[in-house]
Amino acid sequence: MADHYEVLGVSRDASQDDIKKAYRRLARQLHPDVNPGDDAAERFKLVTHAYDVLSDAEQRRRYDMGDSGGFGGGGAAGFGGFGDIFDTFFGGGGGGGARTRPRSRAERGQDALVRVTLDLGEVVFGAHRDLEVDTAVICETCEGGCCQPGTSPVTCDICHGSGHVQRTVRSLIGNVVTNQPCATCQGHGTTIPYPCATCQGQGRVRARRTVSVDIPAGVETGLRLQLPGSGEVGPAGGPNGDLYLEVTVEPHDIFSRDGDDLLATLDVSMTDAILGTTTTIDALDGPVDLELRAGVQAGDVLTIKGRGITPLRGHQRGDLRVGVHVVTPTRLDHKERALIEEFAKKTKAPAPHLAEFQQGLFAKLRDRFRNG
Ligand code: ZN
Repeated sequence: MADHYEVLGVSRDASQDDIKKAYRRLARQLHPDVNPGDDAAERFKLVTHAYDVLSDAEQRRRYDMGDSGGFGGGGAAGFGGFGDIFDTFFGGGGGGGARTRPRSRAERGQDALVRVTLDLGEVVFGAHRDLEVDTAVICETCEGGCCQPGTSPVTCDICHGSGHVQRTVRSLIGNVVTNQPCATCQGHGTTIPYPCATCQGQGRVRARRTVSVDIPAGVETGLRLQLPGSGEVGPAGGPNGDLYLEVTVEPHDIFSRDGDDLLATLDVSMTDAILGTTTTIDALDGPVDLELRAGVQAGDVLTIKGRGITPLRGHQRGDLRVGVHVVTPTRLDHKERALIEEFAKKTKAPAPHLAEFQQGLFAKLRDRFRNG
């Protein structure tokens, strides 16, 4: 948005008097009565808004501190007045008519947010939840109409159904007639003589209800699932807002997630690593037979295809990858020690010697996971 000082063509330390003079000069020049172009109308709007902010000491202070004070900001009450003046100018020129229609009571309901916690197993397959949601639902007595059954809204005496009243206000550019929402009917054009007793004329009541949700496989922490139309019902039977599910996935003791793959570590005894073996492991979706070849090395990664996570978009399941961790025995009795010593003598394994640097087992495992 353009800088308010630039719009008015004044310096940042301009006095209130300078600001007022600048505004008057520009308002005369850009006033829609003398300058009917769209361009002028747009500039007039900017100029009026800039003046609105800078002529108010408090608003100017906030603007100087970096508050943009943009159009539509809730705080700019004064601007509403000028906006109305502006609309009055253009009311006769066409396009302004829409603003003078009465305002419907029905509005869209707000969105609701519910948090859901899943475990990793549920992420693999997807999950079902019956969620308790505490929101506004339509009032069954008046069916959202806000009136006691058998009664109806009546035309407002004050605005005669237009929803607006005209008021003459004095401004810097002379007396102007403004259109303002009718205070008696809040701009609706009708009043409700007998409000529904169940909902106090709101057309909706708070209630706890159950929403059944199928959560797809592959979700992750922080993801928000949108359920259109499952939020609260709007006032006076307005359309529902949306319901959002915010997902949290609890960490698992054994498995971690890497994209669509699941990762785990396989503890293998020294003898199994040397001799090889077959074993069965418990994946999240049931047992998997695994064959360890003789001589498997610490850090080797075994990939079990298709036993990972079903992606949120797509059907091709990821893999389960297990990193081998060879467990060296720490306590040997005499006999075992003698056997190992005999084995060592027999194999004449090379003495410890330097080799290329490798960052610890876990880093090594991680790197292998990364490189597939
Ligand atoms: Zn009601």
